[in-house]
Amino acid sequence: MRNRGFEMSMGHRSWLVVLGVLASMALPDQSVIAQNLESNRRAHLAEGIPITAHLSTLPHAPRISSGFSRSGSAISSAFDVTYYHLTLNLDRSRSPLIIGRVRVEGAALQDLETIELDLNVNMVVDVIFAESGQSLEFVHQADLLTITTPSAVSEGMRFAFDVVYHGTPQNQQPSSFVAGTRNGGQSYIWTLSEPYGGREWWPSEDHPSDKADSVRVTVTVPEPMVVGSNGLLESEIHHDNGTVTFDWVHRYPIASYLVSLAAGVYERRTDLYRRSADLAEQFGNASFPIVHFWYPDVPAYQGISAASGWRLTSDAMEELEDWFGPYPFSNEKYGNAHVTFRGGMEHQTMSSMGNIGIELISHELAHQWFGDQLTPLNWKDLWLNEGFATLGEMLVFESHPDYAGVQDILSDVYFNRALNAAGTLVLQDTTSVTNMFAFSRVYGKGWMVLRMIRGMVGDETFRAILRTYTAAEDLAYGNSRTEDFKKVVEQVSSRSFDTFFEQWVTEGTGYPRYEAVMEDISIPPMYRARITLRQTQEIDESNVSVFEMPVWLQVNTAGANILVLVENDAREQVYELDVPEQPESVLVDPERWILRSAVSLATEIESDVLPRSALSVDVYPNPARSTIQFSVKAPVSARPVAELYDLLGRRIWSRPLGRADGGAIVVRVDDIELAPGAYMLRVRDGENAVDRVVTLHGHR
Ligand SMILES: [Zn+2]
Repeated sequence: MRNRGFEMSMGHRSWLVVLGVLASMALPDQSVIAQNLESNRRAHLAEGIPITAHLSTLPHAPRISSGFSRSGSAISSAFDVTYYHLTLNLDRSRSPLIIGRVRVEGAALQDLETIELDLNVNMVVDVIFAESGQSLEFVHQADLLTITTPSAVSEGMRFAFDVVYHGTPQNQQPSSFVAGTRNGGQSYIWTLSEPYGGREWWPSEDHPSDKADSVRVTVTVPEPMVVGSNGLLESEIHHDNGTVTFDWVHRYPIASYLVSLAAGVYERRTDLYRRSADLAEQFGNASFPIVHFWYPDVPAYQGISAASGWRLTSDAMEELEDWFGPYPFSNEKYGNAHVTFRGGMEHQTMSSMGNIGIELISHELAHQWFGDQLTPLNWKDLWLNEGFATLGEMLVFESHPDYAGVQDILSDVYFNRALNAAGTLVLQDTTSVTNMFAFSRVYGKGWMVLRMIRGMVGDETFRAILRTYTAAEDLAYGNSRTEDFKKVVEQVSSRSFDTFFEQWVTEGTGYPRYEAVMEDISIPPMYRARITLRQTQEIDESNVSVFEMPVWLQVNTAGANILVLVENDAREQVYELDVPEQPESVLVDPERWILRSAVSLATEIESDVLPRSALSVDVYPNPARSTIQFSVKAPVSARPVAELYDLLGRRIWSRPLGRADGGAIVVRVDDIELAPGAYMLRVRDGENAVDRVVTLHGHR
């Protein structure tokens, strides 16, 4: 999810621009869209998949609920939901707005006399009946619906029932079910249940740990509204009374918070994603539809710049498949459905989108792997959703120069926000939705933790980690925890990440503050830098006294700048590094691979032979035997002159050194005979001059 608090405070340029150009954009041809959608639907039906046979065609075995719970949630270890079918009649001009029936199927994991579901008490339950048609007793209070089973349902038994209800959602969790009009009266209705909002509009075990194996969402709305939802559109039936029913079936495991609908007066279009030859070689051939439902007065599909428009979804798909592995729902579809919410939400196979920028496209698409296919077992591991989705943005940005501008802005914004992350990355308290979704923590710091791992293991290993994680047999299409991800990181990289996860994810707070001091300890012709690296964070900034992790140091020399990765596991640590040329200064983590204090203090220490001047002169060796040799660095385009004086102040030699080009000018005084003794070497560039005493001790 990308929440509104974030969007608004960001004040995104591209989004502001959208408003100004809406009116001028051309709209795609309606009939082409209708045709595409229709032929897709036919193609799917032609495969002979019966609409109602959900259990027999499940791609995965039913999952067992975990027993992890938030107080007040109906999650239980006694009943494992396998299937939900929501049948909803929606009309925002009517009260109640929702008239619904939800079928729940599952299996008893122990002998049962009651089953509990989450459902807000604002929803009125009319009747609950079992498969036999027998109506079931229930109690509905404190947002819990407790249903008495007809006779004890014993362990291992399948059990199914239908809840018939009505009501108008109250949005106790803001924006969980939103209805309104836009653009001069066109109705819209959309849902955003994450994390606890599902119970406000439909009965379920509203917890990410009990995923159903499939879901069907059948929604009737007044025409000309169109409804988008999870999975494939099985049918779209227009009725004589001016309503239309959209029937969506999704045959993959899904958590309750990812079940959604987005209805509006939409333009529709379907693209076909075809896996590239390179990816097909790795994952097998695949092609599947990417559908777009958008408000026609907004150029959502075409976009308004090279880095906007949902047409870019296919490109992002290709890039993310390359990093994450095959798109997890390739037997069905991916989609974007327009909503009036300004952010986005990764509803499974049909993201709800309030914007058209490449960052939001990439973010919600990345969630299909991280969040949807792999769902946190418990909300405290929310960073496994948002950190990875934010990483997905960055990976897509890297894939095309058109996105460089967005990347520059957002990587700065996200990094700076991550510095404000409070507490540990793993959430200690999941009762406040606002705190849970604080951008600085699960998004910003979550992304930086992944970036740090990438920096430590390198791109290829990092890619292997991501692909292994999404494909892990014991995790795929189920639930994941921080320790599951850590295990994959360790397996693939063959190194321990115990301390790293402790310091950055589970126990540590804050981040390191580095200081570095460099001394030039060259003994010509060998160049060597001694670097003292210190961590200076205080206890009120971080509870970690020493972050134990590799750190990149950049030693700037007279020629090239050298990057070295050093292991750092002490508050103060000294490194001696051989470098090819005179070392001049050091930078800590110049490419920002570590979440660290914004001002990484790089202290530049001049060696004895390097005066603080635009001109620098280095005499070597000194003392020398019979020949004076020195090198000069001067500003580019300067024309320095070298002069040699004896101790009586007489100039005995001079030479123009030519035009400086930024490199070192090496000079050997070999055109005069010099007696042993001391001399004064002066290098001048206009007003600037550097003096050096040079000693010749002659042959012995
Ligand atoms: Zn997100």
